[in-house]
Amino acid sequence: MTENASTFIAKSTIKAADREHRRKINFNIAKYNAVVPLGKQQFTNVALAREQAKNIKWQAIENLDEQLLTFEKIITSRGAKVLWAESTDDALAEILKICEAKNCTTIVKSKSMVTEEIHLNKFLAKHNIESVETDLGEYIQQLDGEPPYHIVTPAMHKNKEDVAKLFAEKLHTPSGLTPSELTLVAREKLREKFVQAEIGITGANFIIANEGAIAITENEGNARLSCAWPKTHIVIAGIEKVIPSLTDLSLFWPLLSTFGTGQKVTVYNTIVAGPRQPDETDGPDEMYVILLDNGRTNLLANAKVRESLYCIRCGACLNACPVYKNIGGHAYGTTYSGPIGSVITPQLKDLKEWKHLSYASSLCGNCTEVCAVKINLHELLLENRNESVQQGYTSFGEKMAWKFWKTAMLHRASMNVASGKMKSWVVNTFVKDWKKNRSDLQFPQKSFNQLWRERHVK
Ligand code: SF4
Repeated sequence: MTENASTFIAKSTIKAADREHRRKINFNIAKYNAVVPLGKQQFTNVALAREQAKNIKWQAIENLDEQLLTFEKIITSRGAKVLWAESTDDALAEILKICEAKNCTTIVKSKSMVTEEIHLNKFLAKHNIESVETDLGEYIQQLDGEPPYHIVTPAMHKNKEDVAKLFAEKLHTPSGLTPSELTLVAREKLREKFVQAEIGITGANFIIANEGAIAITENEGNARLSCAWPKTHIVIAGIEKVIPSLTDLSLFWPLLSTFGTGQKVTVYNTIVAGPRQPDETDGPDEMYVILLDNGRTNLLANAKVRESLYCIRCGACLNACPVYKNIGGHAYGTTYSGPIGSVITPQLKDLKEWKHLSYASSLCGNCTEVCAVKINLHELLLENRNESVQQGYTSFGEKMAWKFWKTAMLHRASMNVASGKMKSWVVNTFVKDWKKNRSDLQFPQKSFNQLWRERHVK
């Protein structure tokens, strides 16, 4: 077993038994579960909307090279600079170069999973550049020294008391502040940073090819401030974020907000098509867009799992997943958790190292049911498992266990050799993992064959 796999099992085991953790995330997920169905009512045919979104993303991903080049050509004509980063190191080197050129000491950053993926804040801190998270949930996580717990709700595992305690510890606020008071504290602290920052960094929810623009969706206005206030705006986005046309937003914006949080549409939706133009009064002097591959072309090259690139990061599959709801976001040990994380992480990183995530699923298919863009998530988990077997990453013990199981299942007589009592003894004595969290298994005394004969053979 790899180190990542054993860490995952150890963390999951602890979290799965932590009732307080489960209570908090179930409480927060239940709030989404109550409003998402209401939000879906805005679609006259929600199934058709999901199907259309899937088709549009299919079109975008099948023509990814053309779409990205069109985007580059148009946004460049308005003065933005597009930089292509094949890896984390490339992206970080480009960001550092810009920071050094601007003598940057403070950055304001809006919520972006890609910046988590490349561990940007840690990298900048090493170069004495302060990078401040300006999304409230991310700000809380940054104060606590933790990565985001969920792709949409970074501090989902904390309740208001936890946050009040954290603010009192780290910001020396009076204890027991209410959520409104806590928000005002964060607002005051962050306003200062917006004024100081030389550079603002954002992600992009969508890259709009035919418009040469990026679209950002948020509820707090911090992303809009991050891209408009500092003199330099850096966007970092995965290459899969492309949609072909501006009009596609009329489908993707409501889909993203409804499937993510149940809102009909998110509060702030911004389209940025370049730095400040000569006839404009505000906006940054310079804009850079870093297009990140970092393993996404592995997914593109693999026709069977390619559709995972359609993901719009709404988070619905996490909220629906019985595994996620028990072990939470941090146990995965990766940037992208839940069903989508378990599909893409082994492909983005290393199948051998991360295949265990694709096995951590009951394959109930709830993720596929709720996916905003109808990605066949549970089938893709199976595909990853299949690939890992084909590539010989299965242990000798596991191979033998399946071989034994297959032989027994194909030969009913061999299953009937042992009595129910004997089967119970074998399983309860030797299958230790099964017993860890369960009471003894009791096999029926009579086999299926015996029962069948008794009932049907006169
Ligand atoms: S896989 Fe589907 S449900 Fe999960 S985050 Fe992506 S779009 Fe949302």
